[in-house]
Amino acid sequence: GTSLSKLDPEIFHILVEEKDRQQCHIELIASENFTLPAVMEAAGSVLTNKYAEGYPGKRYYGGCGIVDQAETFAIERAKQLFGADHANVQPHSGSQANAAVYLSSLDAGDRILTMNLSDGGHLTHGHPMNFSGKLYEVENYGVDPETGRIDYDKVEARAKEFKPKMITVGASAYARIIDFERMAKIAHDNGALLLADIAHIAGLVATGEHPSPVPFADFVTTTTHKTLRGPRGGLILCKEEFAKKIDSAVFPGTQGGPLMHIIAAKAVCFGEALKDDFKSYQAQVRRNAKALADTLTEKGHKLVSGGTDNHLCLLDLRGTDPELTGKKAQIRLDEANITTNRNTVPGETRSPFQTSGLRLGAPAVTSRGMGEAEMVQIGIAIDKILRAPESDDAVREAKEIALDLCAKFPLPY
Ligand code: PLP
Repeated sequence: GTSLSKLDPEIFHILVEEKDRQQCHIELIASENFTLPAVMEAAGSVLTNKYAEGYPGKRYYGGCGIVDQAETFAIERAKQLFGADHANVQPHSGSQANAAVYLSSLDAGDRILTMNLSDGGHLTHGHPMNFSGKLYEVENYGVDPETGRIDYDKVEARAKEFKPKMITVGASAYARIIDFERMAKIAHDNGALLLADIAHIAGLVATGEHPSPVPFADFVTTTTHKTLRGPRGGLILCKEEFAKKIDSAVFPGTQGGPLMHIIAAKAVCFGEALKDDFKSYQAQVRRNAKALADTLTEKGHKLVSGGTDNHLCLLDLRGTDPELTGKKAQIRLDEANITTNRNTVPGETRSPFQTSGLRLGAPAVTSRGMGEAEMVQIGIAIDKILRAPESDDAVREAKEIALDLCAKFPLPY
C-alpha cells in the first residue's frame, strides 16, 4: 500500500505517539498552539508539489495560475486583518521574516538597537550567535529591573547616543502591553526605522486585544503559528514605500521557492482570524493567562512585572525557592504531563540552560476550550510541584489534575 502506516511504519508510529502526547498533556508553551484541522488539510495538500518562485502574476515557472490565487487570497486577507498597506506571505518562518526586513534596509556593519534576550527579546534581534549579531553592530535595551517593564526613557536615551539605523521591538517572553507608538516616535526622532516583531502577540493585535503597531512601525513581522493559530510560518507587513524592497529581500534575497501549501494554509488561518469567533478566542486567551497568573500570585509565587496583560506570564522562581532552577521545574512538570519551557528572567544569574524562570502561556489550552476555572486548576497543579520539587506525591497529584482536564477537553484530531 501507499499509506504512511504501510510505507513507513516507523514515522507513522511517531505521528501516532505525538498525537497521543498532545492529547494527554497540558500545553503551556506560550509560542505553541493547536491549529485547525482545516489548516492542516491545506498544509498537507498537493500544493506542496508546486514550484512558484516570484510573486502572483510574475512567476519564473509555468503552471502557477492556480497557486497564484491562493497567494492572492493570503495577501488580501492579511492586509485586511491587520489594516496593512502591503503583505508578504512567503517567509518560511519568523526568523526568515526578520532576515528579509534587515536585508531590505541595512548594510553589514549598520547599527541596530534591540531588546536583549534575557529580558525577553529574540535571537534574531542581534544575539551574538545569530546572523543578526554577526552582521550588524548591536546595542541592547532592556526592562527596568524593578518593574519588569520596558524602560522607554532609557530606550530613548540609548537611541540618541547610539544613533541606530533600525530599532526592533517585540519579545518572546514579555507579559505587558508594548507601547509601539512611543517606540516609533523614539525611532523616527532619531533617524531610525522601526521593526515591530509581533510573533507572539499577532492574534491579540489582529483582534484589538493588544494595540497594533501597524499604523506606526515601518515594518511589522510575525509568525503565523503562535497566537494566530495558523501553520508554521512567517509574515511581513509594511508601508507601501517599502513594498518593493521587502518583496525582493524575501525573494530572491533570502529565499527560493515559496511553500505554496503553507501559503494556502496561511490564507485559511487569516480567513478564520477575520471571524467573530477568533475575537472571542483571543479575549479568552487573555482572561485565561490572567487567571493562571492570579492563581500563582495568590499562592505566593513571583511573576516578572507582577502579572500579565497578554497571553503569557513569566515566573521568577527565585521568589519561590532560591535553589529551584527553571530546568528542574520544567522537568518535574513534564513528569506531571504539564509542558512548559524554562526561561531566563531579567537580571538572570544562571546560564540559559539552567535559568531562574518558567514561561507559561494560555493560547494552546484555550484552543482546547478551557476557561478560567481550568486555569485555576492548572495553577494549583503547578503550585504543588514548585512547592515540593522533590516530592513524587506532588507530581502524582498534579498529573491527576492534568489528565482529568485533558480528558474533559479533547483535541479535534
Ligand atoms: N520573533 C519572536 C519575538 C519570536 O518569539 C520568534 C519565535 O520563536 C521568532 C521571531 C522566530 O520565529 P521562528 O521560530 O518561526 O523562526
